[in-house]
Amino acid sequence: MIDKNYIYKVINNAKNPSLEDVDQVIEKARKRIKLTHHEIAILLNAKDKQHLDMIYDVAGELKQEIYGERVVIFAPLYISNYCINNCKYCGYRRDNKFHRKKLTFEEIKGQAKLLEQLGHKRLALEVGEHPKETPIDYVVKAIQTIYDHSSIRRINVNIAATTVAEYKKLKDVGIGTYILFQETYDRDAFFYQHPSSVKGDYDYHFHAFDRAFEAGIDDVGAGVLFGLADWKFEVMALIMHNEYLEDKYGVGFHTISVPRLKKAEGMSLEDYPHMVSDEEFKRLVTILRLSVPYVGMILSTREPISMRSELIDHGISQVSAGSKTDVGGYHDEFHEHEPNQFELADERSVLEVNKALINKGHIPSYCTACYRNGRTGDRFMRLAKSGKIGLICEPNALMTLTEYVLDYGDPELIHSGIQFIKDHAENIKDTKVKEKLNTNIARIIAGERDLFF
Ligand code: SAM
Ligand code: SF4
Repeated sequence: MIDKNYIYKVINNAKNPSLEDVDQVIEKARKRIKLTHHEIAILLNAKDKQHLDMIYDVAGELKQEIYGERVVIFAPLYISNYCINNCKYCGYRRDNKFHRKKLTFEEIKGQAKLLEQLGHKRLALEVGEHPKETPIDYVVKAIQTIYDHSSIRRINVNIAATTVAEYKKLKDVGIGTYILFQETYDRDAFFYQHPSSVKGDYDYHFHAFDRAFEAGIDDVGAGVLFGLADWKFEVMALIMHNEYLEDKYGVGFHTISVPRLKKAEGMSLEDYPHMVSDEEFKRLVTILRLSVPYVGMILSTREPISMRSELIDHGISQVSAGSKTDVGGYHDEFHEHEPNQFELADERSVLEVNKALINKGHIPSYCTACYRNGRTGDRFMRLAKSGKIGLICEPNALMTLTEYVLDYGDPELIHSGIQFIKDHAENIKDTKVKEKLNTNIARIIAGERDLFF
């Protein structure tokens, strides 16, 4: 599926593209026509400042056209740092000796409550791989506990590649997206980074989404840990992995995450010659937006405020906020923290993130309606491609933001936020949708909750 020689041949054949070539590809992407591998390679090789600016601009246009001002907000929840693997880049790898911890179900309930108090409705559950300490039944019970005891409405799950039978259990408990990062699509780098461990089986890892689809999960999220291998190769491979799933199952990735390697305990960034610079990072995010315009793109708090703020305008559609990456990290300041998986760069609170987004005209969204209405997999993609998504998602974003502002905002946000929401509602063109939205906003202000289109 991922043929390294083929990918490098395609990339090398498009070296030093002419200005006309780059122009043509950008124009094609602007019209949302699927790009060929050669055309993607042209974008990857574009270096000219004028063209990089055009790629940024068109990525921004596509983001605006498809997602409007919405930015989906979520938080990761780490429930265990036990791990049998030895990923060289990760603070949780088994050679790092520290007191391991997994949360009890009572503690998980407590974390869910704390996340709820921050206004979150959507989580990414993070677990190290350890069949004895955290078997699938532990993960499933953790998910059920959160759904049963909090107003968290969607739990995406980031656990190690596993079997069809175990994916079926995740499907049955009602997960949102199943997220798994390939880490690197470069087979040699993958092998080197995952020595003597279960995770070191490249093909088993690569085909995890096939098994997830077989188990009935139709919402999967991919990612590359940028910094392990050549970023141009990784971008092409990600796109090819997406094409492979589209061809085989009729639906590709729901989301792509773009984590960049960060300093972690027991590793040195100096050992990683493929670290991605800020400029390269912006190129790769925007080229992905041009290549897979309908795939959601996720940016975490590994990135600093300035990068997050810039890339939301040029392709990113989901961000984590107020994140803790230690097990049970959402407790008060008097608790001692467990070791982190890696260092964070944006430590603002959820409230601060939301205020900054609103100040820039973005709509933080807590909507989970598609998932709850069964609009997943190809049903979601059909909606996204039809262009009607704005008529459903924007009102839902505004309604969930109204809930957030009223329930978790400070006086300043309540004052400015409600006006911001009303102004956006006024701009909705479809009069029926506008009318219903205004009625719903009034109902939420009067105390009703959980309304959606
Ligand atoms: N243990 C599961 C796995 O590896 O698939 C679950 C996910 S792990 C908790 C989340 C992700 O963190 C990994 O897939 C990896 O890409 C990322 N990660 C690990 N070490 C990192 C580092 N030093 N910097 C940035 N991201 C890192
Ligand atoms: Fe374990 Fe995941 Fe870290 Fe690898 S990345 S050591 S599998 S927690």
